[in-house]
Amino acid sequence: MANAATTLFPAPRARVQAMMEYHPPLGSRDALRLDFNENTVACSPKVREVLGSISAGSLTRYPEREPVEAIVAAHVGVRAEQLALTNGVDEAIHVLFETFLEADDELLLPVPTYTMYQVYASATDARIVAVQAADDLLFRFDRLVAAITPRTKIIAVANPNSPSGSIATREQLLELAQRAPHAVLLVDEAYYHFYGETVMDLVGTVPNLVVARTFSKAYGLAGLRLGLLAGPVDLMRWVRRVLSPYSVNSIALACLPPALEDTSYIDWYVSEVLAGRADFEAALDNLGLRRWPSRANFILVDIGPEHREFVRLMHDRGVLVRDRSSDPGCDGRVRITIGTREQMSEIAAALRTLAEGTR
Ligand code: PMP
Repeated sequence: MANAATTLFPAPRARVQAMMEYHPPLGSRDALRLDFNENTVACSPKVREVLGSISAGSLTRYPEREPVEAIVAAHVGVRAEQLALTNGVDEAIHVLFETFLEADDELLLPVPTYTMYQVYASATDARIVAVQAADDLLFRFDRLVAAITPRTKIIAVANPNSPSGSIATREQLLELAQRAPHAVLLVDEAYYHFYGETVMDLVGTVPNLVVARTFSKAYGLAGLRLGLLAGPVDLMRWVRRVLSPYSVNSIALACLPPALEDTSYIDWYVSEVLAGRADFEAALDNLGLRRWPSRANFILVDIGPEHREFVRLMHDRGVLVRDRSSDPGCDGRVRITIGTREQMSEIAAALRTLAEGTR
């Protein structure tokens, strides 16, 4: 009977049936959230003020993104026609892939990296060409260049990358773009604020470069779903055809200008994270735990065969961390988001207690 019912039901596209499933481990996250690289405190108080002043009447209107796109474009130093706001960087990735990837195209991906590149690529007819990092998890520039073919259509580089926190240099990115002029180079700068270096200034100059940024990390607005994609005007025109005109809602649009204006809040949060990262690195080194050098707001730590137990024990102590064991080449490794100095000293203490208990 079950089979008969299944066959009666309209079948989705074959691609969707084969699509990679992704369920972020959310749910009962009432703890110190060091599992999704979010801001661990709050957004700017200026954003909260605007949130409080949003009228019910204003919600009757469809959101108008263009005026806010102009403000954001000026803030990041590109022209308004070069930038599109998106429902998080996830939508930017989805739309970019839908715009460019077709049968026989290749998506070139250094791995391990952010999961959603593979998820969205798996909904297209393109092939994923993964270039595995060595044990140091550093950016494998030479291998990546060697993997470029005439079929390479998109190269997606998270910079800094996740879960490693490693980076590609500006020179490497420029050369990558030049070596694959027939492909789009997506540089995903989700963690830009914690790294401080960008290729945004090359948007429009490098004809195949597209840069993504999110407001989910340093800005603390993951719940509003806000991202951006910036690239050459002609390329962005195609992207805009695929992008839903209303995918960024009016509450998110209202909150963006005050978030951008409050640069002192971002400066404060980033300095907390950078100091917290340095302290936490020292604590990990003292405990003799292997870690990978990170330029982002997280650190990948080698916990070893006890990784599941470790995540559970940390959870029992009120701290959520993320097991990355299923990422290629990451068995036994756990990613820990960096919060404020105070939060990191708490978690370092929890780690010490755990280590003492297991000695
Ligand atoms: N890119 C990278 C590299 C990420 O790590 C993340 C979030 N984990 C995203 C994009 C998604 O960002 P958003 O919340 O804007 O969709």
